[in-house]
Amino acid sequence: MSDLHELVIVGSGPAGYTAAIYAARAELSPIVYEGSVTAGGALMNTTEVENFPGFPEGVMGPELMDSLRKQAEKFGAKLITDDIVEMDLSGEIKTLKDGSGNTLKAKSVILATGSAYKEIGLENEKRLSGRGVSWCATCDGFFFREKVLAVVGGGDSAMEEANFLTRFASKVYLIHRRDSLRASKIMAERAQANPKIEFIWNTEVIDVLGADKVEGLKLRNLVTNEVSEKAFDGLFVAIGHVPRSELLTGQIDLDSEGYVKVEGRTTNTNQKGVFACGDLVDHTYRQAITAAGSGCAAALDAERFLSGH
Ligand code: NAP
Repeated sequence: MSDLHELVIVGSGPAGYTAAIYAARAELSPIVYEGSVTAGGALMNTTEVENFPGFPEGVMGPELMDSLRKQAEKFGAKLITDDIVEMDLSGEIKTLKDGSGNTLKAKSVILATGSAYKEIGLENEKRLSGRGVSWCATCDGFFFREKVLAVVGGGDSAMEEANFLTRFASKVYLIHRRDSLRASKIMAERAQANPKIEFIWNTEVIDVLGADKVEGLKLRNLVTNEVSEKAFDGLFVAIGHVPRSELLTGQIDLDSEGYVKVEGRTTNTNQKGVFACGDLVDHTYRQAITAAGSGCAAALDAERFLSGH
């Protein structure tokens, strides 16, 4: 793969695949690096997506991603299930290296690497990861039949995870650091109406307890400052996401939280020929449909850039 490509798309998910559909239809023969572990992106770990336009009955996240993937392939996008591990985005010709040691050259690059789960940042959270600490209810919920679980967070993700976990768990405690939720009304109401879910308000998790697996949590009430311990069989962390921009540090302009900076309403980064879309640029909306829309914009921006050269 040493030829000079018109366009390489790094990342999959709704942004990357939509960019691939548009770029392939524009005959740019895009190469798409889907990721070795995370092909399809965050929606691969979601259950039903109820708000993607065009699916009045809802659609499963993985099914939606599979359809976008097939649509991109149908128009000639080349999909590669590997990671880009190194990039040089400066200069007219961009150089990218993949996880199998191949080097690619491209006239333009679309970055769509999305976001990763945010961690609370506790030492024992990391140590007990996979031993009762999880970031993905759809992946791990099954292992917690008739168990007592904690979900941390107050956004839509936390509500969704908690609701999903009640299929397996005997009881789910939703631990939130404030006394009101960030989640949308419909998701919050659904969680509040679920008899298996109990809310613990104004509380943060300050430690995860257990030698080889999660046995409990140390909690602090942020109003009274009272510290307590409570027994749990598992902890699901659903406190948002951080942009996956580690590879881009020093290459293109990022904001203070690590999101890629783009010019106005475009997807142009500060490097000519490099475009960014999806959760990698979006602090605000982070929906499957907005990510898909920005993937479309990135392909159109790349197409215009290439036709101008
Ligand atoms: P989010 O909306 O950013 O919410 C994160 C939650 O975690 C907030 O309640 C926040 O508390 C809390 N939090 C953040 N850092 C924390 C920390 N260090 N310790 C304890 N709590 C912490 O993230 P999200 O829920 O992942 O949602 C992200 C986006 O995806 C949203 O736009 C959401 O609408 C969308 N989404 C949609 C659906 C759906 O429609 N089906 C499902 C999932 C996600 P504060 O409230 O105090 O800041």
